[in-house]
Amino acid sequence: MSERTFKTLAELLFWSYSNLQMADAASDMGKDEYDRVCYMIRAKAFKAYTEGRWQISDLYKQQIEKLQQSNHCCAYCGIPFNSPKEATIDHIFPRIKGGTNEMENIVFACKTCNSSKGDRDMFGWYIEHFQKFPSIYLTANYLKKVYLYALANNLLDVELESLNDLDLPFDWHCIPTKYPAPSHFKDR
Ligand SMILES: [Zn+2]
Repeated sequence: MSERTFKTLAELLFWSYSNLQMADAASDMGKDEYDRVCYMIRAKAFKAYTEGRWQISDLYKQQIEKLQQSNHCCAYCGIPFNSPKEATIDHIFPRIKGGTNEMENIVFACKTCNSSKGDRDMFGWYIEHFQKFPSIYLTANYLKKVYLYALANNLLDVELESLNDLDLPFDWHCIPTKYPAPSHFKDR
């Protein structure tokens, strides 16, 4: 199968998000691999996003649960905090690159993860640091932030290559286009 190519940020984001949705559905159904039903879910989602019938938004109930849990353990490595003092505030979009102090942009992280991540793209850092694909929650949060930022700054229809010249709080090269098997997302 030939590699899928993307012209604009919107195309890339919609594809990534449709894959995320497929991964979430497959993992909910207890599947170990993607099958025809999964690919139909992805195709339906991609079409709906592209045609503007669906919007990338907060969709997962478990995301909210995870967010509540994240007060008690590092949002990245998952190590529980022994005391609230061990929790540091991490900005998903770095402050130095225009990330805000809004709750949407904040997670609680341990000192090690926080200082290791620094002002790098969260997704790119995570994969390099942990050598694995992030949870559905972290991925959804990341993609949504990129989407909302792109929407607010009229970047959705910009060609990907032109994004290289901009100082953005994310790196479009890090937006995932290939997702691991649904079994990867079990118990997460
Ligand atoms: Zn950590």
